[in-house]
Amino acid sequence: AREALRELRHQPAMTPDGHRVEIAANVANAKQAEGAVEAGAEAIGLMRTEFLFLERDTAPDEEEQYKVYRDMVAVMAGRPLIIRTLDIGGDKQVPYLNLTKEENPFLGVRGARLLLVRQDLLYTQLRALYRAAKHGPIKIMFPMVTHTGEVEALRVHCARARAQVDGPVVPIGIMVEVPAVAVMADRFAPLVDFFSIGTNDLTQYTLAIDRQHPELAAQADSLHPAVLELIGNTVRAARAHQTWVGVCGGLAGDPLGARILTGLGVDELSMSAQDIAAVKAALRAENYTAMQALAKRALACTTAEEVRAL
Ligand code: PEP
Ligand code: MG
Repeated sequence: AREALRELRHQPAMTPDGHRVEIAANVANAKQAEGAVEAGAEAIGLMRTEFLFLERDTAPDEEEQYKVYRDMVAVMAGRPLIIRTLDIGGDKQVPYLNLTKEENPFLGVRGARLLLVRQDLLYTQLRALYRAAKHGPIKIMFPMVTHTGEVEALRVHCARARAQVDGPVVPIGIMVEVPAVAVMADRFAPLVDFFSIGTNDLTQYTLAIDRQHPELAAQADSLHPAVLELIGNTVRAARAHQTWVGVCGGLAGDPLGARILTGLGVDELSMSAQDIAAVKAALRAENYTAMQALAKRALACTTAEEVRAL
């Protein structure tokens, strides 16, 4: 059965009744992107750039970052590629950034919040991204956005960085991973070119469970109906504004999660490369109408266990 799955990994995730979902991978570098394409990925839905900054003594400069992003563009050869700006906060060990120690790093200066106060980091990264975008399609995504004002400010910075390097227009999107954004997705949709739902953090913040907690993390199930409700609301708002919406959290790589997310109407699922074959197979095995009915039943459940039992 494993062999049969592998054989089919390059076939699209098309349901028997003709609904297609884009299948993408989460990666950290060009080598992983190559492996992901080999594993059946049609796109990169999330390139996490924080790895570029870890385990070293100084931040990567514009030239170094430019080369990394340009290599990604080359490997993807025109396929869609979403690069997320630095998502780092007080919990990660990056001594040279001199981040203030925080009591609750997950609720602190992380992601876009950090970039807005550390514009040295922001502009270096944006200039490198806009330079790389001259070689092929890139989309820029900002993590940990909470307020519409942050999106407005980030767009201004993007326009400035773009002008500095004479870069092309690049779609600008945000992670939907703070419950406030999922609740008010209708007000964020007009400000962005795309959404990508980060179910790991969205679950952590919705259920108030530290995603790394040794005893509680197992309860942080992204299939919790409260999380699904927020995802459903985000998709509805995206649809109403013709805004593309993907999912790049762990739920996208879970075959049951992938069917429910498809039933909720997302455009893309981005996951670890090793999950691609199984998710594609799950989506090819059931009609879209059945997944829509499944999603509806999931939303009516009371616990994650009930959803899993469906
Ligand atoms: C998420 O929060 O779901 C996500 C994809 O981002 P990360 O896991 O890098 O926080
Ligand atoms: Mg996240």
